[in-house]
Amino acid sequence: MLIVMKFGGTSVGSVRALEQLISIVDSARKRGDEVVVVVSAMSGVTDLLLAGAEQAEAGEIETAGQGHREMLTRHTEVVDSLLTNSPHRDSVMAKIAALLDEYDLLCHSIKVLGELTPRALDVIVSTGEQMSVRQVAAILEEHGVPSKAVDATGLIITDGRHGVASPLMRPTAGRVQAVLSPMLAEAIVPVVTGFIGASEKGTLTTLGRGGSDYSATILGHALGADEVWIWTDVNGVMTADPRVVPDARTIRRLSYAEVGEMAYFGAKVLHPQAIRPARQSIIPVRILNTFQPDHPGTLVTKDSDRSGRMVKGITVIKGLSLVIVEGSGMIGVPGVAARTFGAVARTGTSVLMISQSSSEQSICFVVPTTEAVPVLAALEDEMSRELERHDIESIWAQDSIVIVTVVGAGMKGTPGIASRVFGSLGRERINVIAIAQGSSEYSISVVVAEDDAEEALRRLHSEFGLGVEPKPR
Ligand code: ADP
Ligand code: ASP
Ligand code: MG
Repeated sequence: MLIVMKFGGTSVGSVRALEQLISIVDSARKRGDEVVVVVSAMSGVTDLLLAGAEQAEAGEIETAGQGHREMLTRHTEVVDSLLTNSPHRDSVMAKIAALLDEYDLLCHSIKVLGELTPRALDVIVSTGEQMSVRQVAAILEEHGVPSKAVDATGLIITDGRHGVASPLMRPTAGRVQAVLSPMLAEAIVPVVTGFIGASEKGTLTTLGRGGSDYSATILGHALGADEVWIWTDVNGVMTADPRVVPDARTIRRLSYAEVGEMAYFGAKVLHPQAIRPARQSIIPVRILNTFQPDHPGTLVTKDSDRSGRMVKGITVIKGLSLVIVEGSGMIGVPGVAARTFGAVARTGTSVLMISQSSSEQSICFVVPTTEAVPVLAALEDEMSRELERHDIESIWAQDSIVIVTVVGAGMKGTPGIASRVFGSLGRERINVIAIAQGSSEYSISVVVAEDDAEEALRRLHSEFGLGVEPKPR
């Protein structure tokens, strides 16, 4: 089997994790599998890089300096433990030190210029994966697995949008096959940077936070892999975020549509776009625990598990604002919704959820709080005439809200789920501010106040019995 294995931040973030990684890759090869490894930056490194750059833009350079020292310490510790007496030790450390020096230089320039462009930011945050890939390849090589570090800038060709790039699949497939297939033919394990790609002109772009999952499925698709395995720090996709809901359990089987919906609505365990390439080429995806490699985790395939429950999981997205456009003069006026969303789109903001009252007196939709101010300004501009005439009475935003979503393919055509959602929240006196049902009927989302988020999540988790193992049929 050809397997693309992606190791997330925690899975490459410590000596213990990297020992697990070696054993996982080694065992796969001993079983006769061909393996392509995709790595994230060590846990916390991307956040450090980002914080240093943002502070530099604000005129303060010490955060970058502290981050530099911390990253160097983290990498040195791993290299000293796992590359002791290795001929690779010095070259790996020299490369890491050079990347960190470059980071310093970039942060100093940003401080001088007082501006952090999206292009510079992409270069800066990619440093984490560039350090990690060399370290992991050398560690595998040192432990008897022939490996080679590969920068994905030469593999994943993107549309060039900084911070949120999407792959151009055709040119990507050509590059991936040209570079990786000969390595596989020589029984070498390519170790590829996650998160990173480059535009057709060669400008470095990143695939969005958590984007290494996406890198793995892109490579899987391009190589026609048999499976993609996402190694992380929990036992697969769970019924809810285990940090918030202690009795969350592993969901054994999910369909592409179901996991896509969970990821879109906030299950951090998978990048929201990551499932698309796998879905296109019908490659099974497993989500597995690096620290419990024998646990079966979650298997994602085309079909939903019909023997399971109607509701499979509950997710939450935080840091959101509800934007409300309201006024009795909107009734029957054609084009208000189109103009509203046109104005929002021009700000480059993506809308997470929309709900319109049937009387057409208001349109409300959810955006990240960081985008609320520009969105309101764009709407006031677009609707200035209607506001003057009082056809639209107000355009405002309610901050500190979250979207809680109930996901499961079995909800389709099953009556009564929505009423159970509202009933159980109502009994807890949790106020539902807005609702929406996915057109696929695989999800129902409710907007509640941020303060109610965790209680709502736990309440719904228990309402749908997700804390107990489903009965086998
Ligand atoms: P990695 O660095 O391996 O990509 P992430 O931190 O991006 O790991 O994603 C794994 C984390 O996602 C878990 O530690 C868990 O806290 C969080 N998470 C949120 N929702 C879920 C869910 N439904 N199932 C599993 N994990 C979830
Ligand atoms: N290192 C990147 C991040 O923290 C990408 C990833 O881990 O998937 O977002
Ligand atoms: Mg992740």
